Parts: sequence; structure tokens; C-alpha cells
Amino acid sequence: MNIDWDNLGFDYMNLPYRFLAHWQDGQWDAGALTSNNMLTINESSPILHYGQGAFEGMKAYRTKSGQIQLFRPDRNAKRMQDSADKLLMPQVPTEMFLDAVKQVVAANHDYVPPYGTGATLYIRPILIGVGENIGVAPAKEYLFTVFAMPVGPYFKGGMVPTKFIVADAFDRAAHYGTGQAKVGGNYAASLQAGKYAHEHGYGDAIYLDPLEHKYIEEVGSANFFAITKDHKQLQTPKSPSILPSITKFSILDLARDRFGLEPVQTPIAISDLDQFSEAGACGTAAVITPIQSITYGDTVHTFGDGSTGEYTAKLYNELTGIQFGDVEAPAGWIVPVEV
Ligand SMILES: *Cc1c(COP(=O)(O)O)cnc(C)c1O
Repeated sequence: MNIDWDNLGFDYMNLPYRFLAHWQDGQWDAGALTSNNMLTINESSPILHYGQGAFEGMKAYRTKSGQIQLFRPDRNAKRMQDSADKLLMPQVPTEMFLDAVKQVVAANHDYVPPYGTGATLYIRPILIGVGENIGVAPAKEYLFTVFAMPVGPYFKGGMVPTKFIVADAFDRAAHYGTGQAKVGGNYAASLQAGKYAHEHGYGDAIYLDPLEHKYIEEVGSANFFAITKDHKQLQTPKSPSILPSITKFSILDLARDRFGLEPVQTPIAISDLDQFSEAGACGTAAVITPIQSITYGDTVHTFGDGSTGEYTAKLYNELTGIQFGDVEAPAGWIVPVEV
């Protein structure tokens, strides 16, 4: 093994082990680690045609003392259960989910990057409908697999404020559609908007609500947050088509409990950004990304002087401090992995 820990990006890597379990006749088998990174599935599998599948994204962190830990993995288990319900798939029980994740991390522990590099082990659980099934109906068989790969920090050498553009010609998800579920279809629907944003020199696209195109929904595949100019509130959008980000709920709690801000979930109008002194995007991959500016039609709204905001930096340090074990975590947020 010869990995340049300081220069990892976000790329697939074929690690020695992944977990694979099979659901059939109403139950999950025990599942097991396997070294085979190929799935063999029937050509009529519903995941291939009708998108019946969900995924999760989470990370394992190496602490200063060399331990390995997970950040709120029970929340990922719960969210995958909610996604399963939405797509009429069997749930993966929380214990089974956590056990699979721990097994994969422990079996590949050499690939959890060293403390201090900012790099982490990215973990990708997926649940897919497979088996013979050409009609539009839920699958009769499912696979649950968990694989992992080391990934670099989102920022190399400090936080970089990023410019975003409102993708007014595109919607990501509908209010009573699959916006709250972590499913591939939402990502397929986001590719055009992402391409548009990147081609115009922006970090990603900002989606507005699908009904009126007035309220902010998501920043690429991350949630949005903003701090009011009076430094009293941290606001995040409220909408039925936003993916419930675990990072978002965590910073709502940290804002209240550690920085004295009132956490508020409310519709945030794209025409009402003047009330904020700073804003950011948050998610497992994006961690906390400061938003420099938002372009909407002919207007460019810059937050403050465009540099990383005071509370954005504090929240980033607190969150990553907790994740890497340098800052005391709220009860239940950190789950150690025994190697
Ligand atoms: C996964 C995801 C997020 C971030 O969720 P976290 O739990 O914080 O990683 C935000 N938006 C979308 C669309 C996502 O798929």
C-alpha cells in the first residue's frame, strides 16, 4: 500500500473488503465481507430501469490518539430506512447497518487516513432492488452493500469561499416527490444544473423551491444555512423537498448550544438575502463551505466582504473538531470502531 495521504481527491479506490447482504423471501441473510468489488445482478433489476435504490454517505475519522470513529452513524441508518420506505424497499435494521459499517471500516482500517491530514475514510452504503422484475413494481430481492475509500479534505489549506449560481431553469425534486429521500434519481435530475453552473465558473447550482421558484432549497448536493446580520439566528430552509442533512441538524444544535444563536428552520426567499451577514453550504462531503456570493439573474449577492464569515469558521472548527475527536462531542454523536 502506497497512498499519498496529503493529495487524495474524491476518487473510487478498490479497497480489500466490502460488506454484502441479500434480502429474499421477506428477510435479510447474515451478510458477509467480500473482496469482490463487482456486483452480478439480473438485467431486469428494478434499480437499473426504475431507479429503485437509495444510498448513504458518511465518514470514518482518525483521532490524534490513532482511534477510529464515526459521526452520528445511527442517523444515516435511520435516513436509509426513511429512503427505503419512500421507495417501498425493505428497511435495513439499525443494528445491521451499524454492524456492516463497522465491519467494513475495521477490515480496511489501514486505509483510514492519518490524523492531521484532514483526509477521511468515505463510506458508501447502498440498498438496491434486484432480481427478475420487468414490470413497474417493487423488487422481490434486494442487495445491501457497504464499501469505502479514503478521500481528501474538501479544502486543502483552509476554507475557500465559493461562488454559486441559481439554476432557475432546473428543479431538483418536487415537493411530494423524492426530495427528502437520498435516491439516485435526484442526482440524475441534478446533472444538467451542475453542468450549467460549472461551465459558467461557479462551484455548483442553487435550487429554488419547485412550486414558486422563490425560496432556496439546496446548494448542489448540500444544505444551505445563513447567519442573520444581528448575529442572533442561524437559519436553514424549510421545505418538503430538501434532503434532511445530518450535518445541517448538527450545526443547528451547535449554533444553539455552543454559540448562543437561535436555530430557525424557515422558508428563505432568494430576494431576501440582505438580512444575512454570512452563508454556507453543509453536508458530509462539503463539510461546511462558505458561500462567497450567489448569482441570481443579473444580480450578484455577496455575503459580507466575500471572505469566510466569523460564525461559519467557528462552526467549521467546532464540527470538524468533534469529528476528529479534538473537541468534546454532544452525547451520542461519536461511535468508536474497534479494530
Ligand atoms: C447527502 C445529501 C446532503 C448532505 O447530507 P449529510 O447528512 O449532511 O451528509 C445534502 N443534500 C443532498 C441532496 C444530499 O444527497
